[in-house]
Amino acid sequence: MEQLIIKNAKLNGATTDILIENGRFKTFAPHITPSQEQCELFDACGMTIVPPFFNAHTHAAMTLFRGFADDIELFDWLNNYIWPAEAKLTPYDVYCGSKLAILEMIKSGTVFFNDMYWFQEETIRAAEEMGVRAAVGLLFLEDENGNIAERNVRGNQKLLEMKKQQLFSDRITLTLAPHAVYTVSERNLRRVEELAEELKLPVHIHLAETAREVQECRKEHSGLSPVEYLASLGLLNRNLIAAHSVHLSNYDIEMLADAQAVLVHMPCSNMKLNSGAFRFADAFKAGCRIALGTDGCASNNNLSMFDEMKFAALAAKREDNSPTAAPADYVFNIATTGGAEAFGIDSGEISPGKLADAVLINTDSSYLTGGEFIPGMVYSADSSVVDSVICNGRIIMKHRVVPGEKQIIEEGRKCAAKLRAK
Ligand SMILES: [Zn+2]
Repeated sequence: MEQLIIKNAKLNGATTDILIENGRFKTFAPHITPSQEQCELFDACGMTIVPPFFNAHTHAAMTLFRGFADDIELFDWLNNYIWPAEAKLTPYDVYCGSKLAILEMIKSGTVFFNDMYWFQEETIRAAEEMGVRAAVGLLFLEDENGNIAERNVRGNQKLLEMKKQQLFSDRITLTLAPHAVYTVSERNLRRVEELAEELKLPVHIHLAETAREVQECRKEHSGLSPVEYLASLGLLNRNLIAAHSVHLSNYDIEMLADAQAVLVHMPCSNMKLNSGAFRFADAFKAGCRIALGTDGCASNNNLSMFDEMKFAALAAKREDNSPTAAPADYVFNIATTGGAEAFGIDSGEISPGKLADAVLINTDSSYLTGGEFIPGMVYSADSSVVDSVICNGRIIMKHRVVPGEKQIIEEGRKCAAKLRAK
């Protein structure tokens, strides 16, 4: 039996010891002594324990394209910069880029990411090695002739085979990931719907990200918005993870709320690409399920959920023309507990029986001195307050040290330089 005891953690203001057994929180008490010899002890020295972040949409390996093509229009950015460079990617690049991303996520308190990319087995290998959780998508992305690239078909087959043979741990789950309604034909979206039914997998898609996408969708599909179009294909339901969802009509918001689909809000990426503003306050009032994500590093340019929380809260106040919109407690919740719930992960709460995912926060940081804790996390702190990270009952960062950090950065730097070379 694997045991870990966290000594002297602060939970909801009280100091407690916490026993973690086989990856789950078991006992919370003022003093816990080990009941077996091989029990790992970790002194939290009075640091505050809270749920970690769940990044609901990213392209992890795109850390290699950080700062690659800043300050450019989205379609120009995709067609003339990102996609040509991505054509040169090798599986090893994706492995190194994913590790670099995961390193950054761990250092900023994130233990889970929902990914959409190719050479997915390399992202899985990186997530397994570094001890985090990931949802990895079977990618559907067509060329102008309506064909799915050979590497995607092969990658998807490989993932399904790995799942069948149980070649990855419980920390890894799969999704079906059609890129967007403008890059996947109706025929293949219908195939995704069938597969979602058959394999019981969520569907993860970029949705209504730009005004142009909505315009073109209405033109091509009898006046339907992207949300209405997905509904017509049977894809609008609780298992839909709709990244961006920026350009929504009132009717779209109503439909998304009724279906209880997950809307992934990524204020930094939307603002950087000037894609438009997600109607956060309106979606919240309509009762939509909302999670937060970072998007890939090429459009952000980091993977910090601290930044997303702050930008989300501030943008909502501006949208609603009121400082009471998107209060800190709510924003912190959708970045943590709500994110776990959105992906059906039995964690996101520090309580007995839950999967032991947590971060220890250094409240001695100047960022958190004075004021309340949660507003401090949302409005003031950055990732430097994250001292240690636990995922699935294992410490994956201890006092800001992640094993292998130097080498991960070194390899990432080499791959990034290679991809930039003409
Ligand atoms: Zn994206």
